[in-house]
Amino acid sequence: MKQMRKGDLKLVQELNRSMILNKIRGSGPISRISLAKECSISPSTVASAVQELIKEGYVSELGAGKSSGGRKPILLQFAPDNHFIIAVAITNSSIELAELNLEAHIKRKCLKPVKGETGEEVIQLMTEELDLFMQDCRDLERCAGIAVTVPGVVNVEKGIVYYNSKLRLDHVPLKEIIERRYGLRTWIENDANAAVLAERRFGNCGEYPDLIYIVVGDGVGAGILVNDNVLRGSSGGAGEFGHTSVSRSGIRCECGNVGCLENAVSWSAVYSRIVAGITSGRPTVLSELCRGNFSEIRPSLYKEAIRLGDALSMDINEEVAEHLSAGIVNLLNLFNPGAIIMDGSLAYDNPVLLERIREHVQRRGMRILKDGIPIKPSSFGTDGNLIGGAAVVLSQIFRFSLAES
Ligand SMILES: [Zn+2]
Repeated sequence: MKQMRKGDLKLVQELNRSMILNKIRGSGPISRISLAKECSISPSTVASAVQELIKEGYVSELGAGKSSGGRKPILLQFAPDNHFIIAVAITNSSIELAELNLEAHIKRKCLKPVKGETGEEVIQLMTEELDLFMQDCRDLERCAGIAVTVPGVVNVEKGIVYYNSKLRLDHVPLKEIIERRYGLRTWIENDANAAVLAERRFGNCGEYPDLIYIVVGDGVGAGILVNDNVLRGSSGGAGEFGHTSVSRSGIRCECGNVGCLENAVSWSAVYSRIVAGITSGRPTVLSELCRGNFSEIRPSLYKEAIRLGDALSMDINEEVAEHLSAGIVNLLNLFNPGAIIMDGSLAYDNPVLLERIREHVQRRGMRILKDGIPIKPSSFGTDGNLIGGAAVVLSQIFRFSLAES
């Protein structure tokens, strides 16, 4: 047998430790002896790893369990509240910050609207908000890491935001900026990629290793999980669903293409259609809901109008459903996912939209790919990006296997 090098040994120790911690998380309270059996690791290795995990505060002793004769074994349990994660979710309209525990439960959060800031102004706004938020954190030594999620093309390894057309972010070394400022390990991830990890790890789609998470809001994007791995592509740009073509003509998009899905279904496209409908004299309950102040119409009011059966809003919703369904059938044919999750300000809490999409997909999809495919709302609603940020940190620091729970 080849002699093990020092680096290999350290990796084996780390993997053993992750496996033990994952097992305590998923199957605890559990005794050391059961851990050794279930992980197929020697009792002495388990004992030293557990001692380390207790000392660092990731695991605690619960008391005695059932004995099969002799002294009752001490049980171990995961201690999720001794450490915390900071998640920052940048969207095209807001910056949200949260402190979460190691089970991705949000302990506190705050939101700052982005009002036209672009480029460096966005980064400055984010660091100012982060400074304020971190002031209220207990002991930063207990911070397991910071995750920033952002729409657009992200190089995860380098922690650089390559491109976001709406916020005008171009090659921003976000990981370096934050690590230098706070001295804490930081990860940058595309928002939809983080959210698909959250669904698989903590949401209602734990059974699907092939999963697509679609965001429809200010922008349109997708996180694509293929055999439990986030599909990134060669430059981190995979999943730019909003910039796939659903028409060979149409207005030119900021990305350079024409006929992009985003320009047919994003909130600004929907809002333009609402305003055009009102201007052409169509009656709509939206006029009452916004009390005549059309600039106050937000996705929440539009979804309320759909719930009330407003004809103008229903017509627009139907157009959105048709365009999105064309795109979703393309995704089914390319990736054959086990489930589709719909999120974003236009799709979340919009059951009429989801029902119409299901019907269109059933009509247009290839039988073997569409039969029985769930098209579901997200598990976390507006918190998906924050929980996604925590999922990114957890999968990195503990090497949590997505397949295990
Ligand atoms: Zn485009």
